[in-house]
Amino acid sequence: MARTRGPIRQKRRRAGGGLLMLDYDGTLAPFRRDPARAGPWPGVRRLLQRISVNPRTRVVVVTGRSVEDLLRVYAPPAPVEVWACHGWEHFAHGRHTRLPLPAGCGSDLRRALEAVADLLARGARLEVKPASLALHVRGLPAARAAALLAEGRRRWRVVCRAGRLGLLQFAAGIEIIARGRGKGVVVDELLARALPGERVAYLGDDVADEEAFRRVRRRGEAIRVATRCSATAAGKTLRPPVELLAYLGTWLSHRGPG
Ligand SMILES: [Mg+2]
Repeated sequence: MARTRGPIRQKRRRAGGGLLMLDYDGTLAPFRRDPARAGPWPGVRRLLQRISVNPRTRVVVVTGRSVEDLLRVYAPPAPVEVWACHGWEHFAHGRHTRLPLPAGCGSDLRRALEAVADLLARGARLEVKPASLALHVRGLPAARAAALLAEGRRRWRVVCRAGRLGLLQFAAGIEIIARGRGKGVVVDELLARALPGERVAYLGDDVADEEAFRRVRRRGEAIRVATRCSATAAGKTLRPPVELLAYLGTWLSHRGPG
């Protein structure tokens, strides 16, 4: 029989390998009122450590948090790579890289910060990140949370009119962020470097992950981690933590298609 694959590629296939992309909050970790206390579900760190031991499996956390903030709640095993701030920050092998913001974004973000400063006295919490600001209302009474988000959204839309920043919605908050990156862009970049035939998956829980689900579906598994059903581009849903842990376990036994 004619050989159709070179020895290196055969070895990669036998060894499994693959690209495993994971959101953090709501996916690897349960939500907490104080995000600084949102450690991963018990068992997640150990499983990802074991998965990432295989140098042919690329494990990438794709999060809206900043690198600094993520590392405070989840110090990943060394081989794990992080794309943070919706693709504006990168961390791998101990090296932290921040992509430069397009001209004008910095001053727009300062305007956005001033625009919602008074909402903090009403209970909203503002998270300042390198490429964005996030307005959080988790834990507030529903009516006040809705009013604060509506007001914040209205003010930030004014700032967005300059065309350099965009709005994102996430569980219990909104975010104003520099345009040009995003979880979908990160997924496209990672997919471009995946080997043909490799297992590919993206796991997420939130509106911001839908863009990533749509991109990854062409090539692999799009998986929503959630306790409730809702409209999604993901192909299947896992209930955390039991089904999530079971799914991660399948990456340990995965041997590749060939
Ligand atoms: Mg999330």
